[in-house]
Amino acid sequence: MRRDAPQEDIQRVVETIQELGYQARPMPGKQRTSVGVVGNDGRVDSSRLSALPGVQEVIHVTKPYKQVSREWKPESTIVPLAGGLSVGGPEIVVMAGPCSVESEAQILAAARQVRDAGATVLRAGAYKPRTSPYSFQGLGLPGLDLLVRAREETGLLIVTEALDAESLDMVAARADIIQIGARNMQNYSLLKQAGRSGRPVLLKRGLSATIQEWLLSAEYILAEGNPNVILCERGIRSFDTMTRNLLDLSAIALVHGLSHLPVIADPSHGTGQRDMVIPMARAAVAAGADGILVEVHPTPDRAMSDGAQSLYPAQFDHMMREVRVIAEAIGRRVAEPANTVV
Ligand code: PEP
Ligand code: MN
Repeated sequence: MRRDAPQEDIQRVVETIQELGYQARPMPGKQRTSVGVVGNDGRVDSSRLSALPGVQEVIHVTKPYKQVSREWKPESTIVPLAGGLSVGGPEIVVMAGPCSVESEAQILAAARQVRDAGATVLRAGAYKPRTSPYSFQGLGLPGLDLLVRAREETGLLIVTEALDAESLDMVAARADIIQIGARNMQNYSLLKQAGRSGRPVLLKRGLSATIQEWLLSAEYILAEGNPNVILCERGIRSFDTMTRNLLDLSAIALVHGLSHLPVIADPSHGTGQRDMVIPMARAAVAAGADGILVEVHPTPDRAMSDGAQSLYPAQFDHMMREVRVIAEAIGRRVAEPANTVV
């Protein structure tokens, strides 16, 4: 719409879109309001719309993903979280914690350690997608309840993975952010359910997913009416076996151009090696990541999953100091924990 278009012009456009048999999604922006058209599977005849008063231009979104694209929404999305925190604005959000919730003592110790170092979100899986059925599968619901305790005790928000329809409901009822793991990136029924949950969703890139497939998966969540999606680059399979995965940092810059959604990086799964996590966390922030997701364990040598890539708490503290410097160098800052200890 034109910058000065009055509300009645916007309303008329909305009604015309509905008369054409589609849904209208008005998106007020800083500069102007745009109105998205959803429900078409081909090109819409735009002649009726472009002639309406207040319409500046009709843009045909050329990408297969629509609502996720910057063509659809030029302004970056800022995903609001509890307690005034948000992802996608100037502040870089650090999410840290162990791979899995293992016990009350372990998760509370980890939560305090990452909070003291300056993390604002606690990560840890209660439901674990393990390559082998004989590996530790997570504590399940009791693990989720331990995360809730850790939030009460430290004020950290919680991000944790939902594996299937059942765990998604449990996670949505307790967590601040629902994590959809790499292995579930193309589980379309789960994506739709996450879209209907009303909760922010962290969508990891699949192990061998193209960027287009990843964005189309995000589209599933937005198409259900949930705009609060955070993309997470966590490394992809490559021909080289020297690292667990190949952390595709170029994806961060690429996706920022293609999509308005925030993108964070996971240098832990992205490398699989503790010693590489700090350099790649620095690099991710320098590349424009809106946050980082890092595995930290009170005693990595005794971790029940992903110990080899988990930082010692002192290393995490060191990482935070370095990442703050990098953030400042590019005109951003790391989000700090609220001062009030809950
Ligand atoms: C995790 O974050 O612990 C995890 C299982 O991640 P991914 O889905 O990226 O493998
Ligand atoms: Mn892990």
